Amino acid sequence: MANNQYTFTNPVTLYPTGQPPEQHQEGPGTEQGQFPNPDVGEDSYEGTGRLRGRKALITGGDSGIGAAVAIAFAREGADVAISYLAAEQIDADRTIRLIEEAGRTAVALPGDITDSLHCRTMVAEAVSQLGGLDILVNNAGKQQFTEDLLELSDEQFAETLDTNISAMFWITKAALPHLGAGSTIINTSSIQAYKPSGILVDYATTKAAINTFSKALSQQLAPKGIRVNVVAPGPIWTPLQTAGGQPASALPTTGKETALGRWGQPAELAPAYVFLASPESSFVVGATLNVDGGMPNP
Ligand code: NAD
Ligand code: MG
Repeated sequence: MANNQYTFTNPVTLYPTGQPPEQHQEGPGTEQGQFPNPDVGEDSYEGTGRLRGRKALITGGDSGIGAAVAIAFAREGADVAISYLAAEQIDADRTIRLIEEAGRTAVALPGDITDSLHCRTMVAEAVSQLGGLDILVNNAGKQQFTEDLLELSDEQFAETLDTNISAMFWITKAALPHLGAGSTIINTSSIQAYKPSGILVDYATTKAAINTFSKALSQQLAPKGIRVNVVAPGPIWTPLQTAGGQPASALPTTGKETALGRWGQPAELAPAYVFLASPESSFVVGATLNVDGGMPNP
């Protein structure tokens, strides 16, 4: 690889393509359906054996941040199961192919995680096909902007909470009996936990809850040798953003609010997850690693 994540570069000009144009996708959205395609590290992430022999389950591993993490984990030597919605098969196929090209086992787990029964079945399937589990990344998320609380339906409110919080609880609970000492859990929060947008009341609420859930659980599980940590991304160019996560008109300027002045790319998130998954972060417990281009928060 000519350039990898270790190449000495100016982070301001790392992505010369600039800001994306206005666009919108229906449903959960796919990377294929957004322009330009996000950078998930396919052509750049280089592994050095940091997760050799590990077994990981990543929710929302088809696209965006989850895909970048899946590719990085596989290239670091882990076998990887990814969960996603059936409508995202095209992105999932790509990620599965890249995990296999890294020489690792890939497990595809389509299904809706707002169904608690599916969450339990999915974890059992991941454990069975991977032959165990020692990394859990709760990364799937729903983000739909709504300008006015009076327009925020009870259904959307419940679905956002179920996808972002309840599923994390169901999946973690199902995974826990399989996680031995040394295992790691990484949950995906957001800058929205600290700087909530008025149009993301439901979503921002879940992201603060993910931080607190993770901090509390980290205290419970650390004595057992299981570390729980969080990654809090800033604005990252992924399908969710183009499928109602933001108004289409906001897409060309989103990211300007960061100190780097641009959108982040999923590939820039992967090293944070690798660090928190690997034993090199052995004394990092209940922490939130902010990867947001410079949006200081408490
Ligand atoms: P993404 O659209 O690529 O990933 C989100 C994934 O969630 C989807 O691929 C989908 O598989 C999964 N998902 C959603 N609803 C589901 C359901 N009911 N059942 C099963 N799977 C479901 O977008 P992303 O930005 O990479 O999102 C990954 C995580 O990062 C999310 O938790 C999101 O909140 C968080 N995040 C994103 C940003 C950003 O700017 N993109 C910023 C902060 C946090
Ligand atoms: Mg997706």
